Amino acid sequence: MTPYLEIGGDYREVLPGVHLVELPLPFSLGLVNVYLVRLDEGWLLIDCGMDTEACLEALTRALEGLNVAWTDIRQVLVTHMHPDHVGLARKVLDRTSAQLIMHRREAELLAEVAGSPLHTRFEDQVLADSGIPGDLVDKIEASFVDIRRTFCRLDPAWPLGGGEQIPTRLGALQVIWTRGHSPGHVCLYNAPHRALFAGDQILEHITPNIGFQPDHDALGEFLSSLERLAELDVDLILPSHGAPFRGHRAWIEQTHRHHAERCAQIEAALSPEPKTAHELVGDLWNRRLSPFHHRFAVFEVLAHLEYLKQRGRLEARRDGEALRWSLA
Ligand SMILES: [Zn+2]
Ligand SMILES: [Zn+2]
Repeated sequence: MTPYLEIGGDYREVLPGVHLVELPLPFSLGLVNVYLVRLDEGWLLIDCGMDTEACLEALTRALEGLNVAWTDIRQVLVTHMHPDHVGLARKVLDRTSAQLIMHRREAELLAEVAGSPLHTRFEDQVLADSGIPGDLVDKIEASFVDIRRTFCRLDPAWPLGGGEQIPTRLGALQVIWTRGHSPGHVCLYNAPHRALFAGDQILEHITPNIGFQPDHDALGEFLSSLERLAELDVDLILPSHGAPFRGHRAWIEQTHRHHAERCAQIEAALSPEPKTAHELVGDLWNRRLSPFHHRFAVFEVLAHLEYLKQRGRLEARRDGEALRWSLA
């Protein structure tokens, strides 16, 4: 029995008729929060956890404790397609016959990844462009095989585009499309309680990872979606990882500063000579990363490189297989 089987399944009421349920994850984030929100009839479940026995057991335990039958769950909304949020969705939907709600863009991305579980074409291209040596590319791909196998295609009965209102006992939840961490990530805003179900968009002690895609300004999109969230009056942030917290504007300011600093570090590292994204990871992290973490570091660097390129501050030139970045 792995240690994480012991944890998870704890729940608490964080707003009237809203229960936060902690589900265990087999990696360093530790736990993912899913939320049960009372509807006029039945419940809405926000996010599902990972496709593991441990998650399913923990969710089952919490539902029993709350006296909620699987079939009382009438709607399932997934904030985005990462495996810790969507992994268990298929099993939950089988048990509940609930209506699945997710952003249209996210359903498309999931279908693409689920259709080619071992690797996706854009990922192969990105790893080659980054200048990562071939043996490390193989290790990176091997470290993702198990996760990719868990992806399965989902067809939302209610595909979102942003701006929709989901009626609950708490009042309406307004869907806010917040691109960047993932292209179809959504947050849910409840104006009467000034509460924001933030998904992975705002996490208290963690800088959300930016979901880089080629020729896509994911960091720019992430930062501008934060700007839109800053305009809302929010008293309580209900994140997908970590405890609920307050102070979304301070968090947003600090996150803007973090990315500005990263951009400055990258420009400084490129000032002596052009470099590949892989070489920049070596400069910025000066410690050895596992292949799994190295891949995330490369993608994070690429999100910043693309952001700077689209603002005319950097350019990229092809050098053999790889792209070499320099100050414009
Ligand atoms: Zn995520
Ligand atoms: Zn997450």
